[in-house]
Amino acid sequence: MRCKLTRPSGEFSLIYQQIAPLAGQSASVTLGIGDDAAILCPPANQRLAVAMDTMVENRHFFPDCDPADLGWKCLAVNLSDLAAMGASPLWALLSLSLPERLANAAWLSAFMQGWKSLAEPNGVALVGGDTTRAKELSVSVTVVGALPATFALTRSGAKEGDDIWVSGQIGDAGLAVAQLYQSQQPSEYAAFRLHRPQPRLALGAGLLTIASAAMDVSDGVLADLTHLATASQLGAELWLDAMPFSDEVVCWMEQAGWQAPVISGDDYELLFTAPPHQRAAILSLAAQTGVACCRVGLMTAQSCGVTVKQNGSSLVIPEQRGYDHFQAADIMKKID
Ligand code: ADP
Ligand code: MG
Repeated sequence: MRCKLTRPSGEFSLIYQQIAPLAGQSASVTLGIGDDAAILCPPANQRLAVAMDTMVENRHFFPDCDPADLGWKCLAVNLSDLAAMGASPLWALLSLSLPERLANAAWLSAFMQGWKSLAEPNGVALVGGDTTRAKELSVSVTVVGALPATFALTRSGAKEGDDIWVSGQIGDAGLAVAQLYQSQQPSEYAAFRLHRPQPRLALGAGLLTIASAAMDVSDGVLADLTHLATASQLGAELWLDAMPFSDEVVCWMEQAGWQAPVISGDDYELLFTAPPHQRAAILSLAAQTGVACCRVGLMTAQSCGVTVKQNGSSLVIPEQRGYDHFQAADIMKKID
């Protein structure tokens, strides 16, 4: 049995004063927050794409994290999943498990301001959720988006000989986490990349008719490329020299090794494949959406496996290719 917030009136005032007014409106919402369920009106002749991501204190974020950053990020990581499918967001559901210390108007209002600053420009209406008390803060978001009936970007569509592309820059968030772990202050840029990921929705929607496969990078490029290659029953060759790394990530690699930015997670960029004849279309989409796209490798036969090359020679791939919740050391917990 779940334990609700101590005073029912407290729970309701939090929901109706801090959450509901910032839910956002949409013609597709027939009945929003306040009843036992929302009533929604899906767009005609479209398919719906649904995704859910949970973020837990000490695991996905530091306990003292800024509530506005968390409000942004818990929605951003979900919208990133929709972007990876080429879907356009419609609705979200928000499940909040709040420890007593955070079940107050100030924390929730800051959280909802962060949420709204991403939800509003992307037309995402918050249509419901659940609010409970828990020992540790945990935020779970479900998003629903629309897709044209005939297209979707999946992980399994890559073909041998396709180019591999990534959007934006890779490794900045991983660097920020590594620095915070060592009690160093990340640069403003790296901290922004960690706390305010930008879901690549316009790019994903544009890739629907161009890319052969896509996914978003959440666990680390190497792990996620391995997932895409496995789903497509192919191998993949990643070119380290071609990867879009910021100057500070290049410095980090000099100390921590070449693998550091490709096995750290939280990039929330798109990783996608496309046949070579689509190169010009991809660069033009990148210019149009203002999101750089960089060609970083080649899909190969399954028997070749996943390899990383630098100056033409293969590097030895680390056993741990990315973040794994059930294997990785609990890095954030070591902080307290
Ligand atoms: P019930 O007990 O019938 O599930 P709740 O008391 O949990 O109802 O919620 C009342 C209303 O507030 C519902 O419409 C629900 O969707 C909404 N709600 C509750 N928590 C949240 C939340 N964290 N975010 C958005 N809506 C919420
Ligand atoms: Mg409920």
